[in-house]
Amino acid sequence: MKVRDDLDQLEGYHSPQVDVAVRLNTNESPYPPPAAWQDAFAEEVKRIQFQRYPDREATALRAAIGDQHGVGPECVLAANGSNEVIQAVCLAFGGAGRSAAVFKPTYLMHSHIARITGTTVVEGERGPDFSLDLDEVERVVSAHAPAITFLCSPNNPTGRLEPPEAVDRLLALTPGLVVVDEAYGQFAPRSAIEQIADDRPLVVVRTFSKTWSMAAARLGYLVGPAEIVRALEGVLLPYHLDTVKQAAGRLALRYKTEMEERVASIVEERGRLVAGLSDLAVDVWPSAANFILFRPQAGDGDAVWQGLLDRSVLVRNCASWPRLEGCLRVTVGTPEENEAFLAALAEVLG
Ligand code: PMP
Repeated sequence: MKVRDDLDQLEGYHSPQVDVAVRLNTNESPYPPPAAWQDAFAEEVKRIQFQRYPDREATALRAAIGDQHGVGPECVLAANGSNEVIQAVCLAFGGAGRSAAVFKPTYLMHSHIARITGTTVVEGERGPDFSLDLDEVERVVSAHAPAITFLCSPNNPTGRLEPPEAVDRLLALTPGLVVVDEAYGQFAPRSAIEQIADDRPLVVVRTFSKTWSMAAARLGYLVGPAEIVRALEGVLLPYHLDTVKQAAGRLALRYKTEMEERVASIVEERGRLVAGLSDLAVDVWPSAANFILFRPQAGDGDAVWQGLLDRSVLVRNCASWPRLEGCLRVTVGTPEENEAFLAALAEVLG
């Protein structure tokens, strides 16, 4: 039995899961959710009627998410991680005979998920400093009229935030749906959520995996016009969000102040980490996210990555990715983790 030809050629997107003392490779929060959330969640789990299917519409969760952004539940789609949100977008708006545009280097899962759903991927290149080149955007969009265009802001793995004008320009150029992936949105000073309107084909994707300290729960969502959300609901499996997850997410939103405190301290640590990296022989890119892209000036990235791993520090190895030759990406951790990383890197670089 042979798998689909086009799947056979696809490579997975996986960061190694190894046991190390300092794990800074997948942009999770270094802090657990608040203790008060843990207690409230445990109480709620005791009350779950496990013999019953979950609320299919996840109404309470979507209403609570919508409240955060000043929209109703009909403008929110929740799914199992933002990757599943992206999959729903590709299933509903992509597929055979349609294309999705990406501007590289960017989050690899956008094109990976698009291909899995049979959507043709059309690629544009970012500028030399990895900013979005609007002429290139115009070239790609007018040549292919993509049904979906992905923007990642702040962009993974480069850390760059897109200006609101880029989103406006793209909306003016494309006949299709514009998806702004803001998995790292809370670490940045502004959001494209403010640009959403009923008559604009713009949706913004967010996740509980980073700022909300809930990567284990696998919960993500999208905010957009109700008509688009309705179309997306059509491709979700029945009861796709389990009751435990709905409760976890709904309760997490009660601890927004604590989340904002965690974000503020990570942003502060990001500044310290950039300063620490600047003292070493590495090139560093500015970041509006909870990670930093850097490139050792001498030696190859693979060897530096291995040297860090030998010292029980795991970062993301981007050294073989196109246009990121020799680059590594480090997640901002706790002050102790960041110190350990900087010390190990200084040692590896000699
Ligand atoms: N979008 C971006 C840009 C990401 O970096 C990630 C996580 N690596 C995701 C989406 C997926 O996050 P999750 O599925 O955990 O919500």
